[in-house]
Amino acid sequence: MIESLNFRRPINICFSVIAATFILVGLLIAHLQWSASEEAHKKQNRIYINNIAAFMDTYLGGYQNSVREMARIAADQHKFEDDAGSSRELRSWMIERLRILPDAISIIHADSQGRFIRLPYIEGTSSWDPRKEPWFTISIEDSDEAHFTISRDPFANKERVITISLPVINGTDGSNNGVLALNLDIDKSTEILNSIIPPTKSRTFVMNRDGEMVINPGYPIDPAKLKALARYARDYRGDFIMDSHYYAYRSIASQSWLVVHEVDEKELNGLLWNQCLNIFWGMLFTLVVLFFCWWATRAAMNTIFMHIATSIRNGAIKPAAVEEMIFEEIHNSRQRQEKISHEALTDALTGLKNRRSFDADVVQYNNEPLTYLALIDIDNFKKVNDTWGHAVGDMVLKTVSELGLRLRGLENITLYRYGGEEIAVLFKGISQEKAQSYLEKWRITVSTRKFRENDLKISFSAGLSKMGGASLPEVIARADKLLYQAKKTGKNKIIAS
Ligand code: GH3
Ligand code: MG
Ligand code: MG
Repeated sequence: MIESLNFRRPINICFSVIAATFILVGLLIAHLQWSASEEAHKKQNRIYINNIAAFMDTYLGGYQNSVREMARIAADQHKFEDDAGSSRELRSWMIERLRILPDAISIIHADSQGRFIRLPYIEGTSSWDPRKEPWFTISIEDSDEAHFTISRDPFANKERVITISLPVINGTDGSNNGVLALNLDIDKSTEILNSIIPPTKSRTFVMNRDGEMVINPGYPIDPAKLKALARYARDYRGDFIMDSHYYAYRSIASQSWLVVHEVDEKELNGLLWNQCLNIFWGMLFTLVVLFFCWWATRAAMNTIFMHIATSIRNGAIKPAAVEEMIFEEIHNSRQRQEKISHEALTDALTGLKNRRSFDADVVQYNNEPLTYLALIDIDNFKKVNDTWGHAVGDMVLKTVSELGLRLRGLENITLYRYGGEEIAVLFKGISQEKAQSYLEKWRITVSTRKFRENDLKISFSAGLSKMGGASLPEVIARADKLLYQAKKTGKNKIIAS
């Protein structure tokens, strides 16, 4: 069975495997890159929120310390009943303090009977009752904790202020002397949130642990969402995913408030996708290069195979050291081919050329000058077969043929097995006399030949005719006719026209 030589298939398979492996590795790298970048982005956001929170904590903590100091002085020196003397001194001290606190708006000292003093000083009586303010109710019952609330300073032109409040506890008798509150400009805190540039497009705001907005730089945020966030953000700091958003938070202001950093996952994914896109471009580029390599390899293999095929066909290939083996194959193949074509044109029993060969050659001979055709038939061959058997008959055929081949010498004489025991001879470029003498010599050699079989005598008759000048069937018929005459007139003879 001849197998088809398909070199394209292994090349295609090889390159497909390389491409598939490459795509798989590329996807794996993209996946790892995605995870690593996602973690890196989240870490950056966590660091960012931590820094903001630390800054806010220090900022508010500084004011808290000032409030604590003022509360201590107020506890020792301020008596609502006594509005002269020492009280005035305290006020001027506090005013001085207020001046050096840059973002402070006012200081209020209120007691449980609704009496209050506000600095900067407000003239006249007021219907405002500090006891209704949340900072008062929280701090009046507390011991020593500073509280951070959002409230309204009725005497300042501010709707919302950050109030840091502390109970005023008398150092000597421990009696509660009301609450001291420091109001801070909330806009300054909003500025802080706005001034620090986040690593990712995001929203940063401050809420309290009950889910109420405290400092919002202007984002519309659903109150229900804040409540949900408060449920998640229970620790000192942390991060979580909620409603396709990434949140990082950290508490500030005595842990009552949380600075929350919100990043839309779409935003995060967009950044990650951009980074992975580079990998995909690289992959695409390499696939294109791989495609050209595949194409070039196919073209190169095509050329190599064409060279080999041409060399095999011509049998002309110089054996280079590396190509020795291929040369051997080509050489053997050439020999096999020659053997096959030789066998296809040779008669196996006699070694003469066969009828197919004769049919091809005779056409050519008929068109050339000085060409002769002889048709030979062994005499009484049936009798040989009948008397000594077919094997002897074959041996006779072979012997006659061999003698004919041996006797022709260097002359241009070709012998064909024409039929059963009939031989055709083509002469080229020699005279009729020479042709005739060759046939005579052969006839005499055959007829005088002794065989092992007793009484076996062999002879043949022949008709020799000049070729050309007539059609091929006519030339053959002429030779046949001469052979017939030789048979008719006693056999073992050659008749030439
Ligand atoms: P004639 O002298 O008239 O030629 O008589 P003949 O007996 O030779 O008659 P013919 O040429 O007609 O006989 C051909 C015989 O040759 C017939 C066949 O049995 C025999 N024959 C043909 N081919 C072979 C062969 O390859 N081997 C053997 N042993 N016999 C063959
Ligand atoms: Mg015959
Ligand atoms: Mg015969």
